Amino acid sequence: MGKLFLPDETYRKISDISLDYLINEKKIKGLIFDFDGTLFTNNSVSPDTLNFLKRAKDQGLKIAILSNNFHVSSTILRTINITTTKKLAFKPLKTPFLNMAKRMKLPPSKIAVIGNNRLSDIWGANRSNMFSIYIQNFNNFTFKRTNKSIYKKIGIKHVKWKSKCNSVK
Ligand SMILES: [Mg+2]
Repeated sequence: MGKLFLPDETYRKISDISLDYLINEKKIKGLIFDFDGTLFTNNSVSPDTLNFLKRAKDQGLKIAILSNNFHVSSTILRTINITTTKKLAFKPLKTPFLNMAKRMKLPPSKIAVIGNNRLSDIWGANRSNMFSIYIQNFNNFTFKRTNKSIYKKIGIKHVKWKSKCNSVK
């Protein structure tokens, strides 16, 4: 079970992700992003992230957002032009990931999940048979409390994980 918490890849920021590798080596056709602490950091979406999203779209990738948060600013969603979104998703349950795959009309194995939370994003992605990309930034701290209440809700009392990262290609 421990392996399910390990991401396929780890990066410091979204713009470090290699689209060429995802598309040509991993045959990825779609990206599911977490919102808080992943796309949205320090109260904004960085120019580097916006540029990455544009490049991903230009290369034909389908893009979606799956967030556990109830409040995802629609102004920001319009600004970054992502319309396939699900708020209050209850990650790491598999259902929201698999439902999103259906909406994207892609098999789970052709989707990469990009998120900053080992449990809700990485564990959820791995169990859903999606490629998992962990964004290890240092803006995670405020979200830990929220996650705790979510784990509780789905019956997880203790979470243990290694802080080991996969090496980046
Ligand atoms: Mg997050």
